[in-house]
Amino acid sequence: MNRLQPYLFTHLHYPYTLPQLPYAYEALEPHFDKATMVVHHQKHHQAYIDNLNKALEAYPQYQSYTLEELLIGLNTLPSDLKTVVQNHGGGHFNHGMFWQILSPDFDQKPTSVIAQKIDAAFGSYENFKAAFDKAARTVFGSGWAWLCIDQKDNLVVIASPNQDNPLSQGLRPILGLDVWEHAYYLKFQNRRIDYIDAWWHVINWQEVEIIYKKASSI
Ligand code: MN
Repeated sequence: MNRLQPYLFTHLHYPYTLPQLPYAYEALEPHFDKATMVVHHQKHHQAYIDNLNKALEAYPQYQSYTLEELLIGLNTLPSDLKTVVQNHGGGHFNHGMFWQILSPDFDQKPTSVIAQKIDAAFGSYENFKAAFDKAARTVFGSGWAWLCIDQKDNLVVIASPNQDNPLSQGLRPILGLDVWEHAYYLKFQNRRIDYIDAWWHVINWQEVEIIYKKASSI
């Protein structure tokens, strides 16, 4: 497998560990509740990490690759490792990004470069938000909605099932929303739309811009 330039989690390789959140568990109240944040981070995210590490124990030749390299090269992996990287490696990357692009500095809007790229791709912030909302609302079952950079350096909105990561499709994700029920059921029960509405208040657009700049420079 070729070595690649990662853009986000450059430091992440086996053995993987749970990253600290860059804010307190209660910091996103009242939009995201503390109880969900604790179980989502400490239980769900940790389980993806544990399962990924367990699988890589048997594959020392893949232990030095970064998580991004494993996801980009997913289809070149041995089939049993591929399944674990897709589900649990994806779970680790996706949650790592999810925590990173949330902020207690509420109600941010896209800044300079990312605002221009959103206008270029969607016509306006409102059109982008409508497209992203639709993708997030209509995921059947468990999955994610994403804002990604495509091969032509345009922004696109996609949805993915389960923990599938856009890196494995040749896209570079810069913003992701978890729409698994475990992300919202404690506070919102079945009301996914209310959870999506809450999420817009807590997006860290400054961080999304930093991720965009890293991702678009490789
Ligand atoms: Mn989750």
